[in-house]
Amino acid sequence: MSFYYVNNNRQYDGAYEVHKEGCCFMPMSRTFLGYFDNVEDAVKEARRYHGHCRTCIYCSTEYHQALYTFHRHSKRS
Ligand SMILES: [Zn+2]
Repeated sequence: MSFYYVNNNRQYDGAYEVHKEGCCFMPMSRTFLGYFDNVEDAVKEARRYHGHCRTCIYCSTEYHQALYTFHRHSKRS
């Protein structure tokens, strides 16, 4: 379980990034989301504030790796 925050400012791609507490890319202007089991739940909560949200690639590496593994496996089968 970790604390999660969403950036109040859009990224270059128009998305709002969700960060885990302790991330070195944590924005100064942010909204506290809550205490979640995983980043997917945090992103769901973030979508209540901003329509287009995604995880930060730096602090949610495990999540991005899981997605990558999933896509790689689905291509093989
Ligand atoms: Zn981050």
